[in-house]
Amino acid sequence: MHTFVLSDPERCIGCRSCEIACVAAHMDEDMVEAGNKKLAFSPRIKIIHEAQVTAPIQCRQCEDAPCASVCPVGAIIYDGTAVRINTELCFGCKACLAACPVGAMQVGRIHESSDAPVAHKCDLCSGREDGPACVSVCPSPGALKILTSDELKLIAGKRRRKSALQLAFENK
Ligand code: SF4
Ligand code: SF4
Repeated sequence: MHTFVLSDPERCIGCRSCEIACVAAHMDEDMVEAGNKKLAFSPRIKIIHEAQVTAPIQCRQCEDAPCASVCPVGAIIYDGTAVRINTELCFGCKACLAACPVGAMQVGRIHESSDAPVAHKCDLCSGREDGPACVSVCPSPGALKILTSDELKLIAGKRRRKSALQLAFENK
């Protein structure tokens, strides 16, 4: 199982600090300079506001990533840590955007590229010493959490045991 950033809608306060931190983590300029140059603001995490819920949506680094399967030029691959996009190969066809079951994929301009739209999504802030920037800045404890493979296995194991007990008692 892959490591990914998990959000808890119950704890998200919709402040959008994660979106800003994500953009800052993926650009060379500082934010003021980027604003002056009118560079695209393209966070790889998106806060969705609905009547009853506010939730961050971001890539789950799928094991058998549908986005990678449909890419006609092999621009999306799993590199052993995360599902990554080669923006040199991507030509913005949007097949991955249509295939992603959680709506995490986006296609549009990003800071480091030219004007051509390319696919972009959470890369777990690859190379950033302190890990994903969104998790570092989130002011609401537990709203964003890094889930490792071991933690996921533990959670799955607990749920299976709980389900087994429920089934056993239901059948008595
Ligand atoms: S972009 Fe979507 S389909 Fe691709 S790995 Fe992330 S969650 Fe999975
Ligand atoms: S982990 Fe990094 S790339 Fe992913 S949403 Fe958070 S800040 Fe953005």
